[in-house]
Amino acid sequence: MANQTRNGLPFAPFRDEDGRNVHHLSFPRYAPFDPYFRITLHRRAYKPRELLHGALRAFYNRQDGGLNPRQIPARVNFCVRYVMRRPAYGKQVPGAAAPGAGGGDGGGGGGGDETRRLIDEDVRYFAQQLDHFFFFGLLERYITIETGFDVVGPDPAGLEGRIEGETATIREADGNEYVRIRINTGQRDIAYELDDVIGQLMHEMIHAYFLIYSCDCRRCEMSLLNTTGLPNDNHGPIFLMLHRLVLSEIRRWGNAGQNGLAALLEDDCPDLSVSLNSTWRANAAIRALTQAQRKTFTKVRAYGFSTNHLVRITDTDRVAVRTNLKENQIKVENMLYDKRSRADEYRVDLLDNWLAYEDEEFNEDNEENGDEEPDDGLIRVDPDAIDDEEDSNVDLLPNEADKV
Ligand SMILES: [Zn+2]
Ligand SMILES: [Zn+2]
Repeated sequence: MANQTRNGLPFAPFRDEDGRNVHHLSFPRYAPFDPYFRITLHRRAYKPRELLHGALRAFYNRQDGGLNPRQIPARVNFCVRYVMRRPAYGKQVPGAAAPGAGGGDGGGGGGGDETRRLIDEDVRYFAQQLDHFFFFGLLERYITIETGFDVVGPDPAGLEGRIEGETATIREADGNEYVRIRINTGQRDIAYELDDVIGQLMHEMIHAYFLIYSCDCRRCEMSLLNTTGLPNDNHGPIFLMLHRLVLSEIRRWGNAGQNGLAALLEDDCPDLSVSLNSTWRANAAIRALTQAQRKTFTKVRAYGFSTNHLVRITDTDRVAVRTNLKENQIKVENMLYDKRSRADEYRVDLLDNWLAYEDEEFNEDNEENGDEEPDDGLIRVDPDAIDDEEDSNVDLLPNEADKV
């Protein structure tokens, strides 16, 4: 039965006979303090826009005081490792692994193998920090990362001569499923610059987030051109927006630390632009559809047209975020903080039973109210409702005015 819980982890939501999701879950309440920053998500159960908003609420335009206890260490770790390790990159690294070996374990002898091993370790380390900062640590359990020189090459879409990273859902015969990220850390015997590796890594992690958690129902499939993009492409507008806002945040770390991260991906995303290459790929994939195939999808909306969205792409290819995304999130956090303070007065009762307490609440929500929101006195943000709010208060990134 759907929506029962055990040890605080809800069972997977109900799926139809094709294994597709049938009910759009709403993103869990989040606040940057215990216990609300430890959220869990179900696989393939959320609308992509819901995932976009959910991720942004935890980092977009937040000061350190608004970050959760895992985010600041993750950012510090990331930046320290970046500054320490950057000089080791962009150099010749002899001791090539056998062609096509993959996995990045190296093969032959020599100091080059050790250097390559350290590079592979770096990628995993950076991935972990990015996961904790941007994705609530929710990617780790479902992804594998394969790195090495020339582990990726041919472009499956045939659009480019060579690609440097790819992310795909792998379904094993026993039904096990995970998302595999592959990233080149070098070509032939030259290691790439660390900036290029990190730029590729964060790009692939955003793919992974949507591949793991976005809904696979028919309706969501029909909307793909306006959300995460065609299945053989995955660079739709929702991808582009999260990618760009994550990038802006990482560049901010670079500005604060006066390091190279300030110019991360500046060729692909000049100034405040969304990814040029990804936009081009998404459009090429759409153009390659036959008339009949194209009819199975909802028409592509002009990005600038959807001005009532919380987050949108402007006609100058920038990402605009409404200020009420953050304002509503702050309201939720204040309510949750208040709730927690009251709970603290009954600390003896709750210390060991916090999870059980949340369990009960969850069950009640689902048994009595179905899709309805819990009647617990909390303001809950309904992303759809917010989307429709009339509010011309648009917060362009970082503070650019764009009248549409
Ligand atoms: Zn759906
Ligand atoms: Zn991509």
